[in-house]
Amino acid sequence: MLTRLKDFFHAEKIYEYSILPFSEVTVTDPRRAERTFGGRECNTVVPFLIPYLVKCEERSNISVYAHAEDYHYYFKELSQRLKSHFGDLISACDTSPINEVECAVKAGLGSFGRNGLIINGRYGTYAFVGELFFSVPPSHPIFEGIERKETKALCLDCGACQKACPVDAICDKSRCISFINQKKRLDEGDQDTIIRSESVWGCDICQQVCPMNKNAEETEIEFFRQNRTPYLTEELLDSMIEKGSFERRAYAWRGEAVVRRNIKLCQKQKNALQ
Ligand code: SF4
Ligand code: SF4
Repeated sequence: MLTRLKDFFHAEKIYEYSILPFSEVTVTDPRRAERTFGGRECNTVVPFLIPYLVKCEERSNISVYAHAEDYHYYFKELSQRLKSHFGDLISACDTSPINEVECAVKAGLGSFGRNGLIINGRYGTYAFVGELFFSVPPSHPIFEGIERKETKALCLDCGACQKACPVDAICDKSRCISFINQKKRLDEGDQDTIIRSESVWGCDICQQVCPMNKNAEETEIEFFRQNRTPYLTEELLDSMIEKGSFERRAYAWRGEAVVRRNIKLCQKQKNALQ
């Protein structure tokens, strides 16, 4: 049984974490906050990064964050392990009542990039943000060895992301390929955007060109190193559905029809180029 959060993180191969008084975070969804905290007092937040990058030499037609299984499953399992050591603590990742990226930046885990992502010195932009919430103050022994980091500006403001974006979406996320290929109903021009992007799910271009990702470290977390599918085809999709493994994929939340549509559109472009 571990008593220090820091030891837990290291055992989990999580190395980027920090601490903040809850009074410094911004609650963005008060109703969700009510549901999450259930009237419990919250005095301390521990934000941390979950790195997911595994360098891939194979061809890929989906965003790198979706190569492994859905990170929400990872977080659920991590939360269970946390509870078994530290009791019924409150955790969040993605569906948080607070502004997660702002919290991580304030705590010194990175800075905002022009590409809209948090840039961390060790993992670049390839990390998810999670938080733990505690009623005890930051001076409690459970936080021994965890210090608030100094916030440093990591975006070089070089504009490489803006220059590389094929749809000029850095300042207008409604044009972003990653937003468009998740839509259930496509608007005029969206079909063409997907066809030209050749991306079935998400888009990584502004991450790939970012110099802060040049030496980004790979994750050591086993969950993200296994069950990887960088290239989606209809055959693979059929096989996932048959085996029941589709539900554990990051793209499953939009449903099979959206993924199948995108595969077909990208295949169209591939056939046209042959
Ligand atoms: S994810 Fe792709 S489309 Fe979206 S802003 Fe980045 S490069 Fe542009
Ligand atoms: S490509 Fe340059 S401007 Fe864009 S996020 Fe990276 S460092 Fe910042």
